[in-house]
Parts: sequence; structure tokens; C-alpha cells
Amino acid sequence: MTKGKQQTTNDKKQQRAIMLTPKELERYSRQIQLPDLGEKGQKALKNTTALVSGVGGLGGTTALYLAVAGIGKLILVRGGGLRLDDMNRQILMSDDWVGKTRVTKAQETLNQINPDVEVEAIAEYITPENVDALVQRSDIALSCAHNFPERDLLNAACVRWQKPMVEAAMNSMEAYLTTIVPHQTPCLSCLFPEKPNWDRRAFGVLGAVSGTLACLSALEAIKLITGLGKPLLGQLLNMDLANVEFHKLHLYKDPDCPVCGKEAEGAEGTLNHGKGERPFAPTTTNH
Ligand SMILES: [Zn+2]
Repeated sequence: MTKGKQQTTNDKKQQRAIMLTPKELERYSRQIQLPDLGEKGQKALKNTTALVSGVGGLGGTTALYLAVAGIGKLILVRGGGLRLDDMNRQILMSDDWVGKTRVTKAQETLNQINPDVEVEAIAEYITPENVDALVQRSDIALSCAHNFPERDLLNAACVRWQKPMVEAAMNSMEAYLTTIVPHQTPCLSCLFPEKPNWDRRAFGVLGAVSGTLACLSALEAIKLITGLGKPLLGQLLNMDLANVEFHKLHLYKDPDCPVCGKEAEGAEGTLNHGKGERPFAPTTTNH
């Protein structure tokens, strides 16, 4: 997240020297001990605004782990109310909230857990009308919506504004994760030129599955922000949690991608592997 408009935004922010309070130094002391994170990484987290689209078993849990890690600000975007059948996986919710606005409860719970994190709750879905303003106000996006139209809108806006996006999706006991940096890695449209047939809301899901994916999704964002470890750039992690099988696939950037291809915008720093190849191919297996 260090290119173009993004770089300018970060430079301006860093001019306002980010300081950690004594309370923050204590709250985050166990992670500040991580050599590759340290106070520098903690300040970077505090200096970051993360947009989370979808506040369900995936987005809500992702937001929780970003909040406890000390992200500066969360923008939660999710329309609609809480249903009883959401409660097997939505750990920011409470039983007495069924029927009420979901994103408001997420904001309340996160404020209780970590009052140092600013949480903005927007009770809307991602739309063509709101997506650009939301992405412009954010440093990183976490794509956790339950449908592809919202994911596609977020992906295109992140490419337009050169903001990184962690893409996390699941279907039943399977989960998928990749980290997209516009014009460096393939975008969501490169990965899925045709939309997967699991684009639907009412598939069966266990909270432990959405929670596993959410933890990894939050971790990808933390890695990008702090420089810790090695994010899944240009790779798709495919998890079969029924059989505990994990595979990494190398992703190919589509030069003709309608969102990030040459004709859509000047391509730079691509991982171009040529026309006519399929978007990704299995290369390694990690157990
Ligand atoms: Zn693309």
C-alpha cells in the first residue's frame, strides 16, 4: 500500500507524528514484542483506516481481530438486521439484538472491547453510489460481503484508488483467501472472470469455519500494514476445512482484465503470464 495516491495519503498522515499512549503500549505489549512488528508496526496500525464490507461471521470476526490488534479506525458497511440464524457464527452479536440493525451492534461490541479504536457503522450495502467515497476514506479494504456484486464493486474501486484489498470468501467447508495490491497482483476480476456458482447467501456454514478464515483475513491486513511476515500476494490460499487440506495457487494477472488490464488503466508492475492461460493453476500443497 505504498503507491500513487496511497503514498501521498500516508505521507500526510505520517507528518502528524503518531504516538502510542502508555495505555496502548501496555495493551499491545505482547504483539509489540514481535520483532517484525514492534512499536513501528503498532504505530502503522494506529495510523490505518480499514474498510470492512459485510459484518457477518467473516467480516465481524475480521473486524474484531483488527480492533484488538489496535487498528486506528474501522469503517463497517453492512445493511440489514440480525437474524436468529446468524447467531451460530456472528460473535459480535447478542441474542437480545435479533431483529435490530446488525452493524450498530458490531460497533457497540467493538467499542466495549477496545475503546481506543474508532468504529464507524454504516447500515448500507456496498453500491455504485457509495463505494468510491468509502474506499477513498480508507487505507485498506477487507472484502467480506456475502455476494459477488458487492465484492466486484469493492474490487473495482480499490483498483481505481490503488488501495489494497484482502479478499476472503467461503462456501460450506471451503474457504479462499488472497491479498490484492492493484497493478502489482491480479485483481478479483482476474481471478473470477466468471462468477463462482456459490454466490448465494444461504449455504451451510459453521462459525468455526468463518472464524478461521476471518482470523487469516485480519492477519493478511496486519501483515500488509506492518510489514510483518509475507502476505498472500499473487497467491490464492484454498482451504478445505472438512479434511484440513490447504493449497496455495499461484494467480495470473489477466492483461485483458476489464478492471485492472491495460485497457482499463495503464498497467504497471504486473505479474503478466501471458494471454490464453487460465487465471490460476495449482502449484504447491502445504499441509
Ligand atoms: Zn484484474
